[in-house]
Amino acid sequence: MATAGEESQTQAGRHQEVGHKSLLQSDALYQYILETSVYPREPEPMKELREITAKHPWNIMTTSADEGQFLNMLLKLINAKNTMEIGVFTGYSLLATALALPDDGKILAMDINRESYELGLPVIQKAGVADKIDFREGPALPILDQLIEDGKQGSFDFIFVDADKDNYLNYHKRLIELVKVGGLIGYDNTLWNGSVVAPPDAPLRKYVRYYRDFVLELNKALAADPRIGICMLPVGDGITLCRRIS
Ligand code: SAH
Ligand code: CA
Repeated sequence: MATAGEESQTQAGRHQEVGHKSLLQSDALYQYILETSVYPREPEPMKELREITAKHPWNIMTTSADEGQFLNMLLKLINAKNTMEIGVFTGYSLLATALALPDDGKILAMDINRESYELGLPVIQKAGVADKIDFREGPALPILDQLIEDGKQGSFDFIFVDADKDNYLNYHKRLIELVKVGGLIGYDNTLWNGSVVAPPDAPLRKYVRYYRDFVLELNKALAADPRIGICMLPVGDGITLCRRIS
């Protein structure tokens, strides 16, 4: 048996590859999921966007294809109509969302970087779903405060949070008001490359180490929050679904 430290080292190589974000014990098993159930059913525009994103120097940030498929299914299951996304990058999860929503569905999408969004925008336009998206460039927190000031409490069916991990708890304070009772918030990367269980002396990349403490704090806070029911799924880099119950 490899120790946790050795294991995270051998896994690190695969995790640097685009789309390899599974914490499953075998890469072959993850590859099997992708090849059997995900890629054959991936909508053409999502495939195109995935290939464009693969050439981006920060491609490690993109949502994996299996998580995109999961989000698409989830949104249809809950009949989501009014949604929000914090952290767009080139738009893979955004496109998965836009394709799942009905024609009159809406996504309020925020990112501090418009350039990466614009890289994916032509594909989103070609897919015919761009008019569902209201993209706002800038930090999400002031936008959330404005929404609360504007009385948008309880108006979102689904919110996907995939941005600066050191702000997740600040987002949660606001999002718990903005999501409707019975609605969902999905916090992404809650297993943070597996580092949530790394020993203190594990050789973690700098940004992984920096954000790890915030992810650990978030996970504890969500588990202790009586206003939500939670479900942490080992999809992608870990996604915690929070259903507002009060
Ligand atoms: N959901 C995306 C991945 C997002 S990566 C996908 O499917 O590809 C994280 C994104 O969060 C980056 O694009 C980054 O610019 C954005 N971000 C970082 N800090 C932010 C902030 N304070 N407000 C809004 N977006 C932010
Ligand atoms: Ca993510």
